[in-house]
Amino acid sequence: MSKVTIHPAVDRHITPAQAGFAGGTLQCLCKTDKVEIKIDAQTLHNHACGCTKCWKPEGALFAVIAVAPRDKISIVAHAEKLKIVDENAAIQRHACTECGAHLFGRIENKNHAFYGLDFVHTELSPQSGWAAPGFAAFVSSVIESGTPPSRMSVIRERLQEIGLTPYDCLSPALMDALATQAAKQKGTYREA
Ligand SMILES: [Zn+2]
Ligand SMILES: [Zn+2]
Repeated sequence: MSKVTIHPAVDRHITPAQAGFAGGTLQCLCKTDKVEIKIDAQTLHNHACGCTKCWKPEGALFAVIAVAPRDKISIVAHAEKLKIVDENAAIQRHACTECGAHLFGRIENKNHAFYGLDFVHTELSPQSGWAAPGFAAFVSSVIESGTPPSRMSVIRERLQEIGLTPYDCLSPALMDALATQAAKQKGTYREA
């Protein structure tokens, strides 16, 4: 048994997505007056993320984060408790000012490859059936949050073991999407 813990949603077993699952709610961690949002869609590109900006639960090494179309996301309760963590970040993370949980991250730059997709943590949902995490992004960045570099090989091995291929940026599909957008803006994009 490996002693590496990644995140509670993947450490013991990964719950597979439910066929036909069409969305649900996310709630912040406050005991009362919970901020609640509704997602009217299944999530996409769910993954573990080692960056220092994604919200993670107490003690977790990685965040687990997915995306959903922004027009499928609505705030249903206690919007007044939400505040943007960093207005200057590409992803504006709307967090609960009391418990600190991030309810959704939104990109306002219309030229960004991921514009139109909000970032969400489905571990905050009382429902199950959401898309399962499929890879690990920004793995080397856990060093920035205090992981000794000497731990990295055992962390990468553990990620492989649980089926989350480790990448030090995003997955190839998402990096291709970013580069495609950059090529379109530069005028170098070619269809085939
Ligand atoms: Zn809260
Ligand atoms: Zn992240």
